[in-house]
Amino acid sequence: MKNRIKIASYISSLFILLGCQNKEPKQSVDMCIANTNVIDLETGQIKLQDVYINNGRISTLINTDDNTDYIAKSTIDATGKYLLPGFWDNHIHLRGGDSLISNNKNFLNLFIANGITTVRDAGGDLTPSVLEWKHQIAEEKLVGPTIFTSGSKIDGPNATWAGSLEVEKEADINTALDSLEKLRVDFVKLYDSRISGEHYLKTIEQAETRGLITSGHMPFTVTLNETIDAGLDAVEHLYYIMKGCASNEVEITEKLKSKEIGFWQAMPALMDNYADSTAQKTFQKLKDQQVFVVPTLHIGKTLSYLDEIDHSDDTYLKFMGDGLIQTYQGRINRALNASEKVRRDRKKLDAFFGQLAKALNDAGVGLLAGSDSGAYNSYTYPGISLHEELKEMVENGISPLDALRTSAPNGAKFLKKSTDYGSISKGKIAELVILDANPLENIENTQKIYAVLKGGTLFTEKQLNDLLNASEIQ
Ligand SMILES: [Zn+2]
Repeated sequence: MKNRIKIASYISSLFILLGCQNKEPKQSVDMCIANTNVIDLETGQIKLQDVYINNGRISTLINTDDNTDYIAKSTIDATGKYLLPGFWDNHIHLRGGDSLISNNKNFLNLFIANGITTVRDAGGDLTPSVLEWKHQIAEEKLVGPTIFTSGSKIDGPNATWAGSLEVEKEADINTALDSLEKLRVDFVKLYDSRISGEHYLKTIEQAETRGLITSGHMPFTVTLNETIDAGLDAVEHLYYIMKGCASNEVEITEKLKSKEIGFWQAMPALMDNYADSTAQKTFQKLKDQQVFVVPTLHIGKTLSYLDEIDHSDDTYLKFMGDGLIQTYQGRINRALNASEKVRRDRKKLDAFFGQLAKALNDAGVGLLAGSDSGAYNSYTYPGISLHEELKEMVENGISPLDALRTSAPNGAKFLKKSTDYGSISKGKIAELVILDANPLENIENTQKIYAVLKGGTLFTEKQLNDLLNASEIQ
């Protein structure tokens, strides 16, 4: 009898317990990344947290020891691992003509295998394919990073790059911008091979009036101040920043206008006249106008040393394919045929650019990590070269935290996508990378990838390796 009472009271208390739970049922979500070191790239702080994810977005982050109202369908034990936003490569190219479409499509795997969940395609001649991939990736029908693209570049008549929109007379600006808007590109990319300085500045102004985001090279026949005043939102590469930091910029600009000297002849003259007072004014202006700068240090180094470094054993060559490797030859020939002085100048310039990137960062100018990988850009491989870019920044004195900020957080800021991307916080899209070791301690740890989460799919280390192996071109 006593036992029966005991059992009855046990059962009733069990019902009470269950009753409590029924009043506040746990919310079921898709996934939990448990017990992980979450890196807050804004503050640099690391917290031990559980990250709950549902429908591809972050539901909540809680300290590992705290109680939670969430229950996950699957849990990834990330003890001892480091979690940060998936990497952004903020300057790549998908290009090279129809015969290289499949090689370019293959790049998409290389980005994911390297933890790169977003790329900014800075213009090429494969726009229909790029837009198709962009949509298929967004619908999770194709493995690859989120693609933000400029579509065709805007340049002048007989532009260097295939597929460019050519502005020869003022009316062409409107036509070019109309066609880009129709394609709903994510930004407008300007190039400097043939466009006149006047048309260049007017294109920026008109794009800005339409509310479009602009990035570009800069014809040396205009000054950096004129370009910033026109409204350019990001400067690709450091040549143009260097020009704006030289005390003789106006004089050199006049010589270029009268064709007394050319682009490469102007380089040493500008570098030798770098003036700290001019530079600080330029940095302040870039910062005030919130203009981003894309240093592309890794490709700069790679191209500056083509005459010395043998790339024939590079691991990534096997992912490129013969057709793509052939596009490398142009830059290789130019490097090998250059005079001793030009080669020396190029290396001097490369070292100078490293210091310039550091100075820009010290001054608070927003940098964007971009590899410039793609066809024609010799030995600058999609995926791995973004890690090389981050490493190059740190080798030039930028802290690992600041270097990491130039990838996802600044990439999202530049494209005005910070509501969805750029940090690990509630409501944001869960495109994440889990590392085996702390990248704030050693930037090379960005390459120690444990898992990648992209578009609701978790890629384990093994799956990432399989993806890489499957990308080898036979
Ligand atoms: Zn580029």
